[in-house]
Amino acid sequence: MITDCHVHIQPPEMFRAEVRAKMAASAEEFARIAELAASPARLLAYLDAAGVERAALIGCVAPEVMGTGREINPWLANYCAQSPKRLLWAGSVHPRHSDDVERDLRAVLAMGARMIKIHPPHQLFAANEYGSGGRAGEGLATIYRICEAEGVPVMVHTGTSVFAGARNRFADPMPLDDVAVDYPQLKLIMAHGGRPLYMETAFFLLRRHANLYFDISSIPPKKLLEYFPRLEEIAHKSLFGSDWAGPGIRGIAENIADFRALRVSDAAKHSILSGTALEIWPI
Ligand SMILES: [Zn+2]
Repeated sequence: MITDCHVHIQPPEMFRAEVRAKMAASAEEFARIAELAASPARLLAYLDAAGVERAALIGCVAPEVMGTGREINPWLANYCAQSPKRLLWAGSVHPRHSDDVERDLRAVLAMGARMIKIHPPHQLFAANEYGSGGRAGEGLATIYRICEAEGVPVMVHTGTSVFAGARNRFADPMPLDDVAVDYPQLKLIMAHGGRPLYMETAFFLLRRHANLYFDISSIPPKKLLEYFPRLEEIAHKSLFGSDWAGPGIRGIAENIADFRALRVSDAAKHSILSGTALEIWPI
């Protein structure tokens, strides 16, 4: 049962005009986002054609950089409710745009979110900023504490972003070392494995922390073994994700075909496409 744990579908009007323009210019599949956002049935048909059983749709509140506000949470809840077994979603609470992070986070979880997304370069804070106090810091501590207690995974974007206004000093995965130490029961998913600058850090962290996982999304599968030559050793904590329909991403089916052609064991492929996701999000 293949799970794509990193898919981006949302109404294009939730993005700032500048972001929409950039996506239209650089994301081959961007034109399909509006069509698929209008109809979960069309997305399910697309997933069927790609041989994907489940997809996790990623929401992220990032008003300054992307334009997306908290309305993404009820939108994803409603969309995924059309097929709760096949469509999971990541919700989001931005600590600087919430006057009660605990209340807002519990509301998102009550809506059915199966994980929480944090995007430091787009939300403009470091993933370990809770150590430094301040509003973002206190809110982050609340998110990690509640997700740890409730068994809800937290996915953190790592690696650079080229959207206008993104801050790449927050792109380095190393702050997740703190998070993994301070919240040892929290399931942390390092999205993108720090690509394209921080793969050695990502690999080190994955080997160090039992509670840290990663998704391969937005790394062209053909390059995955260049980025992670010892993928086999971390396959049991790796997840297939496409980042489709984001900039530069080919279709999900093409991603899977390229991934299957890699020289890694069948057992590792099975873990990455299917096994790890079933562990994190049991049916
Ligand atoms: Zn993404």
